[in-house]
Amino acid sequence: MAVSTTVLRELHRIHSQLGDLRGRLERGPHKVQAHGANVTRQQQTVGTIEESVKHTKKNVDQKQLDLKTGENKILDLKGKLNTCSSNKEYQTLLEQIAASEMANSVLADEALESMEKVDQLEVAVAESRVQMAAAEKELDRCRQEVAAEGAVIQADMTRLEGELATAEQELPQDIKSDYQRIIQAKGSEGMAAAAECTCQGCGYQITLNMQNELLLSKPVFCKSCGCLLYMAEV
Ligand SMILES: [Zn+2]
Repeated sequence: MAVSTTVLRELHRIHSQLGDLRGRLERGPHKVQAHGANVTRQQQTVGTIEESVKHTKKNVDQKQLDLKTGENKILDLKGKLNTCSSNKEYQTLLEQIAASEMANSVLADEALESMEKVDQLEVAVAESRVQMAAAEKELDRCRQEVAAEGAVIQADMTRLEGELATAEQELPQDIKSDYQRIIQAKGSEGMAAAAECTCQGCGYQITLNMQNELLLSKPVFCKSCGCLLYMAEV
């Protein structure tokens, strides 16, 4: 039973193209997934910085409250200076006032520092929101691209599957089951050209007998990798 080399070449071309298309179809959702993960990361970054802003603002409020309390305490102490009955009491009050003023000055510096930190964090939030929006846009673009590409790939695959069915009708009945088995197991790698007495699939040196059978258009499977072989174009 002869098998046309042209048909075998055609079958191998179709299987290779189908394999490429299947690979592209599978990579699409992975690309979308990677962009989705990037969006999640950016959202987490924004969330973390926003939390930090909230915490630092609370800190500022607390320090301002403490400052007010400190100022009231100083006013109170200063008021007592006029009602002192002894020099010792007066001196003690002066020391307490000095200590409170020192504490308040430290608090004021800290409050200022925290306010500056809030400003910096708010800039950082704005920046990471921009990055998050960019990542979301990129995800959207990728989704649309993958969907559009998927539709084109599906159409190409349908066309190729039609061509495949037509080409497979040309295969001799007695090799069909061996052919189907190897294609099912290895896809497009289930077929290979024989060039310079070598299987192009695995590099196996084909025998003179196999070479002769190929020349006579007989079906030949590689003894090493099991590929359905065909003569390479010269
Ligand atoms: Zn081989």
